[in-house]
Amino acid sequence: MDFIDLKAQQSRIKSSVENRISQVLEHGQYIMGPEVKELEGQLAAFTGAKHCMGCASGTNALELVLSAWGVGVGDAVFTTPLSFIATAEVIAKAGATPIFVDIDPHTWNINGTQLEDAILAVQNNDATKHPLPSICKTTQLTPRCIITVDLFGNPADYENILRIAQKYNLTVLEDGAQSLGGSYKQDKLCNCGCHASTTSFFPSKPLGCYGDGGAVFTNDADLAHVVDSLRYHGRVDAQNKNKNIRIGYNGRLDTMQAAILLAKMEIFEEEISLRQKVGACYTNFLLENAAGYILPQQIASEDQSIWAQYTVLLPENILRGEVIQKLKAGKIPTAIHYPLGMHAQPCFAYLGYEAEDFPMVQKVSKRALSLPMHPYLRPETQEYILHTLLNICQGC
Ligand SMILES: *Cc1c(COP(=O)(O)O)cnc(C)c1O
Repeated sequence: MDFIDLKAQQSRIKSSVENRISQVLEHGQYIMGPEVKELEGQLAAFTGAKHCMGCASGTNALELVLSAWGVGVGDAVFTTPLSFIATAEVIAKAGATPIFVDIDPHTWNINGTQLEDAILAVQNNDATKHPLPSICKTTQLTPRCIITVDLFGNPADYENILRIAQKYNLTVLEDGAQSLGGSYKQDKLCNCGCHASTTSFFPSKPLGCYGDGGAVFTNDADLAHVVDSLRYHGRVDAQNKNKNIRIGYNGRLDTMQAAILLAKMEIFEEEISLRQKVGACYTNFLLENAAGYILPQQIASEDQSIWAQYTVLLPENILRGEVIQKLKAGKIPTAIHYPLGMHAQPCFAYLGYEAEDFPMVQKVSKRALSLPMHPYLRPETQEYILHTLLNICQGC
């Protein structure tokens, strides 16, 4: 059994991928070839965003936006501690300070009420209202932006977050690395009202290529223009290749990866609905057979998660390591997303947070377990996974 079955997908699209690759070999435009533009057009149409720009990775997409906004030293950027490290890494690399905010106990996304507490705490340099990094004792930081994460594909609470952002004059960057293909109310994720959104095409993401890749989405023409320049070493534009007006990045999406993604786009809509079925099958089983015991992630009824991961919270009194070993013995692979909140990662020790600063993150990171999840997971395999998990938990 595979945790993510990329081979099943590849067997469906193999001839299309091969055709696309041989077209690239024929024209030979390996950097910024026509496939990049074609893909950007398809993704803009898919999300409804006015601008889509391919780039080197999901991490690069985040740094391109922060750089375009001029986020840097002295700025406070608010985000969740429960994410892949890249979300906070880019804040620190920009020279800004990550301000972590605890998660909602049910959706596991950034908690809106505490977000506002954190903004006020930074404004007033008052760590009694909300945990702050130690730099706030000596330096007045300026609240600049919020990076939301649609954790495991589940949309953050955008209505609330955008209202808070407007109140305090902050921009919102949606880290949609895990969520392209899902939706928030009527809107597609990566175009749900934020000032900019990013995604990742890392192979295991819902829309993955065969290497590294990412994209930036926005409806802001000025931002799109700057990101387009920054991803190409800050050049003026395609006509002025050797005039550089910004310190930029080598941040382009390879033509080859765009070609592979174009083949995957042919079946993406279908894969989205297959993912919905697999996600619903897990959730329905848990609600019927393990209610209040093994907890699924809560998705608002008007939203759709793309289920980049299907993650559950194990019962409190159960040793996760033991469950993982027993599932492994039954040939069921699992993963932990994430064993540590970013505030507790050694690389962020300099911020001076305590592990206990974010109790919900601590609880979820101790109990979370991700189960096999991909569009081609068969109902009988899911049933086996769920019955085995339930038996193990009840026997522990
Ligand atoms: C995967 C991921 C990234 C980074 O994407 P890369 O393409 O690997 O650089 C950033 N944020 C989140 C939430 C992710 O899951």
